[in-house]
Amino acid sequence: MTAVILDGAKIAGEIRAEVAAEVKAMTAAGATPGLAVILVGHNPASEVYVRGKVKACGEVGIYSEQHTPPDSISTEKLLELVAELNQREEIDGILVQLPLPSQVDSKSVLLAVDPAKDVDGFHPMNVGFLSTQRPGLVPCTPAGVMEILKRSKIAVAGQEAVVVGRSDIVGKPTAMLLINANATVTVCHSKTRDLPGVCRRADILVAAIGRAGVITRDHVKPGAAVIDVGMNQVTDRAEFERLFAGNAKREEIFRTKGSTLAGDVHPEVAAIAGAITPVPGGVGPLTIAMLMANTVRAAKLRRGQKNL
Ligand code: NAP
Repeated sequence: MTAVILDGAKIAGEIRAEVAAEVKAMTAAGATPGLAVILVGHNPASEVYVRGKVKACGEVGIYSEQHTPPDSISTEKLLELVAELNQREEIDGILVQLPLPSQVDSKSVLLAVDPAKDVDGFHPMNVGFLSTQRPGLVPCTPAGVMEILKRSKIAVAGQEAVVVGRSDIVGKPTAMLLINANATVTVCHSKTRDLPGVCRRADILVAAIGRAGVITRDHVKPGAAVIDVGMNQVTDRAEFERLFAGNAKREEIFRTKGSTLAGDVHPEVAAIAGAITPVPGGVGPLTIAMLMANTVRAAKLRRGQKNL
């Protein structure tokens, strides 16, 4: 069997088009959604991510603004900025790009974001809403995983789902969303005994580990849907050979750039899975699309609540 490739870029494009239509209608009604992004200092990876988010806002018609305090900012000053954005009516979403510099108390900054504007879905209030199935804001990448399953018509209810990874950002919220969608869910981590055996139970296997190619064909039941959240830069030649030997396109990328992006799932899995997300082009594009969707959702939830 060769897996169906789940085209994340195409699905993300559909979601963005839907969001753009909603934004157009909201703008016509005089209520353009707005996103404020806080980017502290000059972390090159963070700058790339933020550029992508701001560009996506422009494309779907969401108002966006960037706040770029210096690396030396204190926790107190950052809390003042968050408080000011919490108060502003035209700002529906606040995103604090992580990581923050070491002198800043990241937890207290994230806690200070108004939960109604927490478009990353990291605030404990939104974590609680998710676990108790109340309306709230759901972290973007896990929400993207669910959109891929839904739009690819992969059944979730009653299925065995295994999530490898238990981070607050990806693993745990993905597991919670799968439980809420009536899957039977097992969460694995670095202390799991017999990881391949547990993973082989999965009809739906989600890998959110952060290590290239950990999930091999030994971990996968033939025909399973495999969602690969991992984004790992492979720079080591031996590692490259383990994952991509004989892949001419990857060889070309690796030779010219000195690295290539790999998921947590070994490419050999595509030969036995029923469906699989590629890396790049799978889950990655969904994260920004869901940020756009979350900003619209935040605007609707907040303004709806005000009208009650
Ligand atoms: P993380 O916080 O480092 O968590 C990794 C999880 O994997 C932990 O729970 C860890 O277990 C578990 N783990 C590590 N090695 C393992 C092993 N050998 N066997 C089983 N479990 C193992 O990472 P994260 O933030 O969740 O991110 C996971 C991956 O997703 C990364 O590659 C990241 O770049 C990617 N990501 C992608 C997107 C996207 O837009 N596509 C967004 C966010 C993250 P312990 O808890 O026991 O340590």
